[in-house]
Formats: sequence, C-alpha cells, structure tokens
Amino acid sequence: MLPKPRFLQRTIQELGVGTFRDVAKVLETAPVYMALEIFVDRRVSALPVTNEAGEVVGLYSRFDVIHLAAQKTYNNLDMSVREALRRRTVCLEGVLTCHPHETMGDVIDRIAKEQVHRLVLVDEKNSLRGIVSLSDILQALVLSPAGIDALNS
Ligand code: AMP
Repeated sequence: MLPKPRFLQRTIQELGVGTFRDVAKVLETAPVYMALEIFVDRRVSALPVTNEAGEVVGLYSRFDVIHLAAQKTYNNLDMSVREALRRRTVCLEGVLTCHPHETMGDVIDRIAKEQVHRLVLVDEKNSLRGIVSLSDILQALVLSPAGIDALNS
C-alpha cells in the first residue's frame, strides 16, 4: 500500500485550508430576503445559520433558494431563515461541523462519506470559526500542491 501523504495528519488550522475570516453568515431570525442579499453581495454558496448566542444551528445554501422557488414560497421572503429551514421538504445538506484541530484526513473522509460540499468549522462552544469547502480542498490538493507539500516535511 502507498504511504499516506503526511499532510493528511495535519490539522485544518495548521494547513490553513478553508476560510477562517469574514465568514458570511445569517441569523436564524433574519428574513429570507436578507440571506438572498448576502448571497448576491458575497457570492458564496452557503451561509452558516447562527442563533442569538452565536452558535451554529444550520446551513442555508443556494440550493435552498431554488427550492424556495420550486415550492412557490418565494412570495414570502419575510419568512425567517429558521422557518425556511423548518419547511424545507428536501434536506439537501444539513449542517455538518468540524473543529479546526481535526486533521485534513478526517475532514476529507467526512466530506466524502456524507457527500456534502462543505463543513462548518466551529469551536467547543459551537461558535462559528470558519468554513472548509470542497473548493478549498481541491485548491490545496490539486491546484497548489506545492504549498501543501512544503508542509509535508
Ligand atoms: P464554495 O462556494 O463552497 O465552493 O467555496 C468557495 C470559497 O468560498 C472557499 O474558499 C470557501 O472557503 C469560501 N466560502 C464558502 N462559503 C463561505 C461563506 N459563507 N463565507 C465566506 N467564505 C465562504
């Protein structure tokens, strides 16, 4: 069997794979139109949903917006994000979290097993710390492997 690359044992935080700053998010009590505005402004594919205490309670993705249109609920954009998540008939992607001190190997395994596009990084208090998406992993592994290789020694 081929030896596993060493970076798989490095933590996400050490490798800096993902977005750790200025993560676009939405409050669960915010109206859906606010989530749509954030999608337009920030061009991200999903927003971690947080409660008043700053804990991650869900994930609202661009696909949920398509479902809003399919369910013909787009005329009720004043509905809260929490309500929109509750009414979601198809749960395309629930919120899956991971901790910044988990290894790249664990994160890749979870993304592959759960077939999700991203994991939301949280701390012990379930507060938002960042986001690690398939795009980040592909970027690190395929497009700029030199960077990750440098950490491989
Ligand atoms: P994605 O849209 O998931 O393919 O991710 C593209 C890039 O945007 C990656 O670098 C992600 O880490 C970053 N990203 C994804 N979602 C968010 C978000 N809600 N806030 C800030 N950055 C994000």
